[in-house]
Amino acid sequence: MSELMEMLIRRGFLWQSFEIYGGMAGFIDYGPLGNGLRRRLENLWREFFVINERAVEIDTPTVNVEEVFIASGHAESFTDVAIECQKCGKVFRADHYIKEKLNIEADCTIEAVKEIIETYNLRCDCGGRFGEPFHFNLMFTTSIGPGKGKKGYLRPETAQGIFIAFKRLLDYFRGKLPFGVAQIGRAYRNEISPRQGVIRLREFNQAELEYFVNPKEKTHPQFERYANDVVKLVDKFDNEYKITLKEAVEKGIIAHELLAYFIGKTRRFLLKAGIRDDRLRFRQHKDDERAHYAVDCWDAEALTSYGWIEIVGIADRTDYDLRKHIEHSGEDLTVFVQFKEPIKVKKLKIVPDLKKLGPVYRKKAKAIAKALEELEVKDKNIEKVTVEVDGEKIEISSEFFNVEEVEEEIYGEKIIPHVIEPSFGLDRITYTILEHSFEKDTVDGEERKVLRLKRWIAPVQVAVLPLLSKNEFIKVSLELVDMLRNAGIYTEYDDSGSIGRRYRRFDEIGTPFCVTVDHQTLEDRTVTIRDRDTTKQVRVEIDRLVNVLKELLSSEKDITEFGEIFKA
Ligand code: AMP
Repeated sequence: MSELMEMLIRRGFLWQSFEIYGGMAGFIDYGPLGNGLRRRLENLWREFFVINERAVEIDTPTVNVEEVFIASGHAESFTDVAIECQKCGKVFRADHYIKEKLNIEADCTIEAVKEIIETYNLRCDCGGRFGEPFHFNLMFTTSIGPGKGKKGYLRPETAQGIFIAFKRLLDYFRGKLPFGVAQIGRAYRNEISPRQGVIRLREFNQAELEYFVNPKEKTHPQFERYANDVVKLVDKFDNEYKITLKEAVEKGIIAHELLAYFIGKTRRFLLKAGIRDDRLRFRQHKDDERAHYAVDCWDAEALTSYGWIEIVGIADRTDYDLRKHIEHSGEDLTVFVQFKEPIKVKKLKIVPDLKKLGPVYRKKAKAIAKALEELEVKDKNIEKVTVEVDGEKIEISSEFFNVEEVEEEIYGEKIIPHVIEPSFGLDRITYTILEHSFEKDTVDGEERKVLRLKRWIAPVQVAVLPLLSKNEFIKVSLELVDMLRNAGIYTEYDDSGSIGRRYRRFDEIGTPFCVTVDHQTLEDRTVTIRDRDTTKQVRVEIDRLVNVLKELLSSEKDITEFGEIFKA
């Protein structure tokens, strides 16, 4: 086990679920610190992707009726290719097994897997042969209600809950595009053989934004914010670039401005959360790698001890999902978009000749005339048309009408919006932050483990420590704990062990600041604040403590800006 993982389990960040019953791959529990960290990450995500967009957040069920995923295509296509050993019965995800044993990137098709198994005579670890590769659907099934019940699925993504509520959401936004709808919640994928610890889970946390736009306007009014950010890109042909987003769009590396906008915003969010820029890149999916609903997809990938892993997927899902739900539900999920100016179009129109229709068609003549006026024709010299009157199909020849060219004003059109979706795996991001923050250095000649979490994301932001475990020190310390907690600062108290050991304990879990109550506190109501990263200390009056800490916790300012350096 890595040193980091040992620490995460020992200190209560996370551990394997169902431990006392032997555990089960693909499930983890978040302990107090891991849960705190992930919740802070969620809040940061909300700031970026809900509060700072024309967007809202909703919450829909994790159990869905079968119809949703039949329409979305997941029931048929959300599969991986699996191989089963005929001797020991173990099942593996084919592309992962091939990569692990042969270091080949295999296409995820049955034919490709079969060919590789035959060519390389690939066997199971136990020596057994594999049977025919097969498709395995990753969705967990369930049944809703008693008896045979109704078939349901646990959602493999939060997005579908948003698509099927589109009509209500469009109303909420008064029918106007663009708008975003976010959802943070659990998703479930019955991964075939998850062996990558916390990276590949069967129950995990997603934060997704579905951003609905007019397909003709794949831009964003705030693109300029990120246009000059330099990003690392790997396109689908494996070309690597270090390039501004603006240039990447101009050169056609990124298909449009809106995708680039979300790549830029995602990058800034990840950096703010504590992912390291030198271990972050954006990689475009290859043509055979994309999900069934996407025309283009860029993954944010982070370099970890598991190699480069996908932590965010940014996909252009086009109108795929809404179109499918229109087809399957019969509901109208289109949006009427007004043109900036009404446009004039030339149209061919049938003008019925009532004088001729009357004598021939008598009572039906009026109805025929009306049906003729509603017909659309493309050819001015059409010889006959067919109309339907009272369920009867009647052929009318051109002697009964004229075709004339007319000009009409059109005010808008009905469209199916396109969707750009940044989809975040919160568990992978949380874990990557931990890896990217975990360091060892030497303090006072001693090695220490330190988690350099960003101040705003740390699960414990401040520790209050009485220098000595004496009543007068403890009393003031507990008053400070109350004061800081009331101010909304995540604060812990610790009076066990030497002060040095206590500092180390809080360094290890990433607490940015320790406040120490010492002898001088009792004389002049000042305390020391110690910075985790520099281990520098300053003295500050208790009256200023909340304000100073708040400013420190929301910025990267140095503590020496706030008080005189104190040497213990
Ligand atoms: P996807 O819909 O496959 O693009 O997934 C969106 C995000 O969810 C990915 O970028 C991952 O961060 C995360 N994710 C997908 N599958 C898993 C999994 N099995 N365990 C943990 N996170 C996952």
